[in-house]
This record gives sequence, structure tokens and C-alpha cells, in this order.
Amino acid sequence: MDSFTLQVASALVSAIMMISLFLLYRASSREMCLLDWSAAGLLFFLRNCLGVAYFVPQLTSLVSGAMVNALYLSAHAAILVGVRRHLGLWPGWPLVGVLAFLVFGLSVIPVVQQSVALRLMLLLPLVLLLCLATLYTLWRAPDPQMRTVYLLMMGIELLFSLQLLVKIVLVALDPDMPLTLAGDELLQTSGYLAMSAFIMLTTMACALIVIRRQELELRRASDTDPLTGWLNRRALQRIASHEFARSDRTGQPCAILTFDIDHFKKINDSYGHAVGDEALKHITSLAQDVLRGYDYLFRIGGEEFVILLTDVQSAELCAVASRLRRKVLKQPLVHGQLHIPVTVSVGYAQRQLNEDWQTVLDKADRALYHAKEHGRDRVSFYNSHQELEWLR
Ligand code: GH3
Ligand code: MG
Ligand code: MG
Repeated sequence: MDSFTLQVASALVSAIMMISLFLLYRASSREMCLLDWSAAGLLFFLRNCLGVAYFVPQLTSLVSGAMVNALYLSAHAAILVGVRRHLGLWPGWPLVGVLAFLVFGLSVIPVVQQSVALRLMLLLPLVLLLCLATLYTLWRAPDPQMRTVYLLMMGIELLFSLQLLVKIVLVALDPDMPLTLAGDELLQTSGYLAMSAFIMLTTMACALIVIRRQELELRRASDTDPLTGWLNRRALQRIASHEFARSDRTGQPCAILTFDIDHFKKINDSYGHAVGDEALKHITSLAQDVLRGYDYLFRIGGEEFVILLTDVQSAELCAVASRLRRKVLKQPLVHGQLHIPVTVSVGYAQRQLNEDWQTVLDKADRALYHAKEHGRDRVSFYNSHQELEWLR
């Protein structure tokens, strides 16, 4: 393969990156990182256009190595900028400008300008640093559900970094190697090939990152109750099956607790639906204070809630249920001058060997209605003899 063909191919691939990511941005304009990545495509494209121009005799003298370097570095920096923006960090475009200006300035120093090897030794370590910074930023990203697509991008950055490292070592070992901007040396042709592959794979990874995030957002929205932010009944089915199967494997005990606001209809009737909504938010927020961060919280009906507790012993379960009831009793809903007393009835059931989640939920529900029947504002449960009992 000759350098000219590879440069043309790289220019085409860069144009595809620029256009496809820009069109994706037009389709979902909230994803600003797509603009950064499209800009990376544009910078690669300009860099490769200069590379192609170098082969046109009338244009050769116009192509400056310093400009090529500055564009190439900025393109890699733009990928990092997009990753940072995607993760909600400061994108850092001004720094890209400073870096590009610095590389351009250093590359036009006469001694550097006359030596491709020196220019490469200036450029490649910086590009390597940018690739490693992108890799590290994605590595530190907290969302485990995005991990797979991040790993793809990290793998691409890692392979490209290794390729850069080999190149740096080879140039450092033999600085007199006959390099030109369009050299036919294996080193340079393989570099162009690596660049085309990198641009193509990065385009794919960028698109996948955005698509995956949107898919997760949609899934989260369809699993969440908008009023309280708790999970809804649809999520209960999936999460409870998953957690019960996990409990079968690990042997960790799990339990289901349900609670229902007492005489909630009266709150709505006396103060209006909006205050009723406030009461729902008030109570879910109180409940969150007594529950552990890793319990699953569901709103499965108007004012009916389910908590799925994993790795919980019955003494702890009993304490949680009582604390929840007492906390709600002690903290009335404050609405303007009004202090509106609210209470909840609670039922819970610890999973017995091999019971499925529907059976345990059904028992917790029966315990809840037992609490209602025995006067409300109380906790009922199945005792060790599997009989219903209430405590105060
Ligand atoms: P109990 O003590 O037996 O549970 O009586 P209750 O009045 O709490 O129960 P009931 O099932 O009779 O009434 C529940 C009420 O909850 C009826 C419905 O209007 C109200 N509700 C359901 N969803 C919402 C909601 O999203 N917001 C508000 N404000 N009210 C709701
Ligand atoms: Mg109720
Ligand atoms: Mg109810």
C-alpha cells in the first residue's frame, strides 16, 4: 500500500466520522459530546487533506508539518474533550487551543521544522498522553452499566497507544531514519493504516456510547415512578426475580416489606390532591432515611410501597419496620401553617427456603392487611411458626 492511497482513505474515514457523528447529534441534540467528536472528525479530515495535498506537486510547498501536527494533536484532544463532556466534566476546549498552539509554535522552530524525526518526537509523546488520558478518564467513570461500551473505547485507545509507543521507540533508536511527511517507509504506512483503523473504530465507539446511554436512560425512565423517584411495578418483576435467584446461589437471606399510608383518601379529600402528592414524597423520603442504600424501593400502587431487602436477618428486618412506622408517626407533613399527621401500616415476610418472590410479597401483603385490621399504624409479620403477629 502506498502512502497516498492510505492518506486518501484516512481522509474519507475522517469525513465519515465528522458527518455521521454530526448527523447523530442532529438526531439527539442533547448529546453535546457528539459535536466534540464530530469536531475530532473534522480535525482528522483537515489533517489528512493536508497529507493528500502534499502529494500534489503544485501544493507540496504549501503543506506545513507544523500545521499537520497541530491538527492531528487537536483531533485526539477533541476525543478526550467529548469523553469528558459525556461524563459531565469540564470539557476543556481552551486547553486544546493552547496545546495546538504550543505544538505549532515548537514545530516551526527551524531545527524542528527541518527534521521529521524531531517533529515526531515532539508530537507522538503528546498524542500518547492524550490517548492514555482518555483511557484513564473512562476507567474512572463510575457507571457500571456503561462499562462494556467504555471498555471498547478503552481497548481502541490502548491499541493505538501501543502502536504509538513502538513508533516512539523506533524513532528514538534511529533518529536518522529516512522519514518524510509522505515517506514510504513501513513505519509511516503502518502509521496511516493504524490512524484509519483508529478513526473508524472510534466513530463506532462514540456512537455506541451515546446509544447505550440513551437506552439506559429510557430503561430507567420506564422503571421509575416520576413522583417519588422510586422504582415502579414493572421493575419489581425484573429485580425481584433477579435478586431471589441470586439469593438461591449465595444463600443470603432476603425479605419483602410493604407499607401503605393509612386513610390516605382523607388527606386528599381534606387538603386536595396536591397535598396528597406532597405526603407521598414526604413519606418516601422518610422511608429512605431508615432504609439501607442498597435496598430496592418500589411504589407499586397509589400509596402502596414495597421494599426488597437483601442479606437481611429477621431481627434487623423487625427493627427497620418499627423504625419506619415510628419515624412517619413522629414527623407530620408540614404544609404552610399546617402539620398534617400521617401514619403507615407495615407488613413484612422473610423468605423461607425456596419461596418465590410472589409468595413472599403475598405474605407481606397479608401481614400489611393484618396490621390494617388491627387498627393501622402498626407492624405485622409472619413469626417463626408462620403465624401472623403484630407488634407496636
Ligand atoms: P387505608 O387506610 O385502608 O389504606 O385507606 P386509604 O384511604 O389510604 O386507602 P384507599 O385505597 O381507600 O385510598 C387510596 C387513595 O389514594 C385513593 C386515591 O385517590 C389516592 N391516590 C392514589 N394515587 C395517588 C396519587 O398519585 N396522588 C394522590 N394525591 N392520591 C393518590
Ligand atoms: Mg392507604
Ligand atoms: Mg392502599
